[in-house]
Amino acid sequence: MDPFLRYARQHQKEIIALTREFVECESPSDNPKAVARMVDLMRERTKDIAAVSVSRGTTYGPNARFTFTLPGKKKDGQILALGHSDTVWPMGTLANMPFRESKGRLWGPGVLDMKAGMVFFIFAMRALRDLDVPVARKVMLQVNADEEVGSESSREWTEEAAKQSAAVLVLEPGTGMTGKLKTARKGVGDYVVTVRGVASHAGVDFSNGANAIVEMARQLQKIAGFTKLDRGVTVSPGVVRGGTRSNVVAAECMAHIDIRAPRARDAAYLKKAFASLKPFDKRCSITVEGGLNRPAMERSAGVRRLFGIAKKLAVDLGVDLEESSTGGGSDGNFTAALGVPTLDGLGAVGEGAHAVNESILVNRIADRTALLAKLVAAI
Ligand SMILES: [Zn+2]
Repeated sequence: MDPFLRYARQHQKEIIALTREFVECESPSDNPKAVARMVDLMRERTKDIAAVSVSRGTTYGPNARFTFTLPGKKKDGQILALGHSDTVWPMGTLANMPFRESKGRLWGPGVLDMKAGMVFFIFAMRALRDLDVPVARKVMLQVNADEEVGSESSREWTEEAAKQSAAVLVLEPGTGMTGKLKTARKGVGDYVVTVRGVASHAGVDFSNGANAIVEMARQLQKIAGFTKLDRGVTVSPGVVRGGTRSNVVAAECMAHIDIRAPRARDAAYLKKAFASLKPFDKRCSITVEGGLNRPAMERSAGVRRLFGIAKKLAVDLGVDLEESSTGGGSDGNFTAALGVPTLDGLGAVGEGAHAVNESILVNRIADRTALLAKLVAAI
């Protein structure tokens, strides 16, 4: 049997125990103190193998970097692993959704996205140390506090670390119940379009009003038409708000629109398209704000090469590793956009991220942990 796989199986109980501790330390993005507690717990549990540096976040919790002490003398270049300490689940979720092991799975808030992935990485590093496998590069795990809310406070730090790295391994969950890796992610962003019209009494003074809702309805037809499904570009109005009372001609209407763009040039197309919006009713005005907040992670030659290495290593573990692309973003979007080979979806295998059935497969814990160790040794 592959030595890393044997190691991971021998330590599976401990991996599950640490996953439980991480899940039971609730850490919603909007609670900096809770996120700080999660980081403290990680620091405590990695004392044997990692040195930690922390950047105190502003509105969010602290972002943290764990640098591992691994066998092998000279360290040449760096491997960056990316995780996030925050989850989408509010404090108190555990009361209704406690951590549990049943039906061959671990369940609980944040178990898949992505506390188990970080636990796997920590044990992968312990495997390298305990099996005394030399690692050529410096290995750093960066744990961001605000990934689920757009990574505003951590983006610069992530990009700075990526620029010094030969490869980036993202510990987000794999795709589907087979745990496909993610080799492409769409760029993600949003636009806020505001129409300002002229208010008037809908009965007494109808003609002097310019209805912002009616104008927005016409604009939305146009905006929805920016979607290019054949290119994977989607434009989806998600929230519309306007007007005050039924007997007032609406003076204002706002639309919040989600955009997804697989390639950098698609983002440029959308920018131009949104900038071209002009009012149908000349008495109305339109303002457009927003754009892409995560650039596309394109399936570059470097990404393909990295996936090829992982696929080959997975054969030793009895896994036929597949790749996938997704419309969802991660911190891997930032690193891939800088041209640094990035492999995403290396965390746990399961389903229900951000949903009540969030869970991971127990029988995939060992091979995912082993794959991380083998990748770090091979890159
Ligand atoms: Zn995540």
